[in-house]
Amino acid sequence: MAVKYTRPRGTQDVLPGQSGRWLRLEKLMRRTVGLYGYKEIRLPTFEATEVFARGVGDTTDIVSKEMYTFLDKGNRSITLRPEGTAGVARAILENGLLGSSPAPLKAYYLQSCFRYEKAQKGRLREFHQLGIECYGADDPAADAEVIAVARQILSAAGLRQVRLEINSIGCPHCRPKYHEALREYFSAHKAELCETCLERLDRNPMRILDCKVESCGKVAAGAPVVLDYLCEDCQSRFDQVKALLDAQGIEYVVNPTIVRGLDYYTNTVFEFIHTAVGTQGTICGGGRYNGLMEQFGGPATPAVGFGMGVERLLMALEDEGVELGGDPVPALYLAPLGEAGKTEAIRLATELRSRGLYVETDIVGRGLKAQMKYANKLGAVYSMVLGDDEVNARRARVKRMEDGAETELSLDDLGEFLCQNL
Ligand code: ATP
Ligand code: MG
Repeated sequence: MAVKYTRPRGTQDVLPGQSGRWLRLEKLMRRTVGLYGYKEIRLPTFEATEVFARGVGDTTDIVSKEMYTFLDKGNRSITLRPEGTAGVARAILENGLLGSSPAPLKAYYLQSCFRYEKAQKGRLREFHQLGIECYGADDPAADAEVIAVARQILSAAGLRQVRLEINSIGCPHCRPKYHEALREYFSAHKAELCETCLERLDRNPMRILDCKVESCGKVAAGAPVVLDYLCEDCQSRFDQVKALLDAQGIEYVVNPTIVRGLDYYTNTVFEFIHTAVGTQGTICGGGRYNGLMEQFGGPATPAVGFGMGVERLLMALEDEGVELGGDPVPALYLAPLGEAGKTEAIRLATELRSRGLYVETDIVGRGLKAQMKYANKLGAVYSMVLGDDEVNARRARVKRMEDGAETELSLDDLGEFLCQNL
């Protein structure tokens, strides 16, 4: 019996015809982050497992259950990157980038990430993230700039129904008091908490606020609010971030329940949420993580950044009916008729392509009528028939497909004509 091959659960094929949207969005992303000074960083798809599970009692979903971890043939524990931030921190330290480059260090990545999640719409096992990482800037202006990058990408892409939610989750000085208040509150509601949250109660009660189980969400709604526990410095930083967002005309709502999915955040956290969908509505999440570099054994270094889900953004754009445009259309379809025409069509097509023009010609042996039908289907802007007469005279008529208008010209002038009339 023949084997039926299927792609692994939670993965996607991006097919010809669909990839045009990806390319356009990726181009827009690269261009936009470039306007803010971000340079690309390309890192390995897999890292030593310790890069992601740093033995700091990390209780996030990612580290505790979502990682693709395996032993390689040398018995090393390897993990496919579930996110980008940890790898960047590793690379910055390993390559000594903090000492050599002037602050801030701004890097971005556009890459696949892997998480063993319950696959569903908008939740894949291999997905793609645009991430930016800004190291060496502790000023609230850096937080406000990072948020502006994300906002500009979303609005340049044409997304409208999006809400920015921000919060401050304090610093190591003020957080213990808040943890204590949470423990006290949730201990009185143990019966309503899921098993995972009961564990979180001890280790990291803030995680409970992020739980997606309905009963936990209900209890969390009445929990003490982190903003009431901020120290003076954290409060002032939060106020400055808000003021700088106001100054840029960036709208936001303060949502004291966002805590983000990773444990290394301090102060600012934020999410861009597509308002038309449910739990998979978070398109972008980020914040400040001043504690991360030290977890890697490096010097205390302020850092702020975000991760943006490419599939989630594409989904949201589709939802809103925003067209990113499809595949490029040929400038010219060259339709050969007879042997001499076929040879000339191939020669001419190659010459025009070397000038940077997208040209299609027949390589399957269609008749003329079928060729013209195909040229139409491709959306070719111009077409040209090349038969014996045209080849001998080295002159032919180029037809504008839209209205049938024809221009006769020398084959040597065709390239120039297309360049001027497209
Ligand atoms: P969620 O709460 O939806 O699980 P998260 O907090 O785990 O998200 P981050 O780790 O902050 O997400 O990742 C940043 C962004 O990457 C998310 O906002 C989302 O757009 C996208 N993302 C995360 N996990 C997935 C996934 N499994 N499939 C598709 N996109 C994802
Ligand atoms: Mg998640």
